[in-house]
Amino acid sequence: MNVADDERQSVLRDQLRAWLADHLPFPVDREEPTRNRQLRQWQHLLFSGGWMGLSWPTEYGGQGGEAVDQVVFNQELARAKAPSPPGIIGLQTLGPTLLKFGTEEQRLRFLPPILDGREVWCQGFSEPGAGSDLAALRTSATLDGEDFVVNGQKVWTSYAAYSDWCALLVRTGDVGSRHRGITYLLVDMTTPGITVRPIQQINGDSDFNEVFFDDVRVPRRNVVGQVNEGWQVAMATLSHERAMYVLSRSIELRIAFNDMVTALASESLMDGALGRLGETETLLTVLEAQAMSTLTRLTHGEPGDVSAVEKLLTSEIEQAVFSCAVDLLGPLSVGARDDVGVDRWVHDYLGSRSATIHGGTAEVLRNTIAQRLLGLPRS
Ligand SMILES: Cc1cc2nc3c(=O)[nH]c(=O)nc-3n(C[C@H](O)[C@H](O)[C@H](O)COP(=O)(O)OP(=O)(O)OC[C@H]3O[C@@H](n4cnc5c(N)ncnc54)[C@H](O)[C@@H]3O)c2cc1C
Repeated sequence: MNVADDERQSVLRDQLRAWLADHLPFPVDREEPTRNRQLRQWQHLLFSGGWMGLSWPTEYGGQGGEAVDQVVFNQELARAKAPSPPGIIGLQTLGPTLLKFGTEEQRLRFLPPILDGREVWCQGFSEPGAGSDLAALRTSATLDGEDFVVNGQKVWTSYAAYSDWCALLVRTGDVGSRHRGITYLLVDMTTPGITVRPIQQINGDSDFNEVFFDDVRVPRRNVVGQVNEGWQVAMATLSHERAMYVLSRSIELRIAFNDMVTALASESLMDGALGRLGETETLLTVLEAQAMSTLTRLTHGEPGDVSAVEKLLTSEIEQAVFSCAVDLLGPLSVGARDDVGVDRWVHDYLGSRSATIHGGTAEVLRNTIAQRLLGLPRS
């Protein structure tokens, strides 16, 4: 974003740049589980330096700053090409959810280890028969004494293989209760009865997993909000996920675009590329303006339904940026390795195909925008 820093942000930015210069490069392997261990060490180092949870309250391990501080942090990490902290779901979605809906006991127990990298979270919402239609979910939880007993299956659960905890949506109401019978549970991934099976993706990564629950006992105190009222909690979580996606991705896409322009210039490939570059630059500028508006809203309240616009815009511009890179760089887009040996442009191009699916598909977001923001009837 091209917002001028105020004095406080400018000091923060300078301090972070100096800290990063002292601590980078931080070596991270491509192969798991080494990669996950190293990324946790990196997050712990950031935490020790006072850089995690810049906008979270100090009583839960944060720095008590403003939402914009987090943007400065994301910008500087991306600019320095530093590794991203691994606990992204805890940091960007579960943490804000607990700050709003969690009990004080839950906040004190779960927020500090999210920040220092001790506990990484995954999010178990989608199921084989419940993706866009999330209210159709069937993984059940029945109360037995002071525990819920969970049975069922989740799918597309990102990072589950390396997560310590899962934010899980379960059905506690009748089979047909839809939105009214869903509960939001915090589940320890080491509990007996949980099986995780990784799924390999087109770009070679295995971020996704299937997760099976077979008589898994979860203490009742791990319910977030009220029993059967988890839908409201889940919708707030999804709004945060979408708003944080525009804030962090707009910065990363700008850096990727600038790197692409540099690569084209150094290979004398600018002829014939200007029209496409101008078009992509325009899209990125629109995205950056949207990110500024997102930041203003987050500073003054909740993300809300507008987060559907943000998610849709970001995902389509993400695809435009990487399509542009692959089209213009041509054969040079294959074999351009990054620091850990990933074929950068092709990897990100393939990865960008998923942008219009995760966190709500483009089609479903268009429906949401039409119905909730424009007030149009369901078709
Ligand atoms: C990179 C990535 C990460 C993910 N991480 C997680 C995670 O960590 N945890 C988790 O729980 N889930 C995760 N997901 C799953 C994601 O939330 C679902 O893929 C998504 O909600 C779509 O559900 P589905 O795949 O079942 O597709 P479906 O809902 O079956 O949709 C199939 C097609 O039908 C279209 N469609 C469906 N309903 C409508 C409608 N009413 N109107 C118009 N078109 C419609 C969709 O747009 C889509 O094109 C992830 C997905 C991706 C790609």
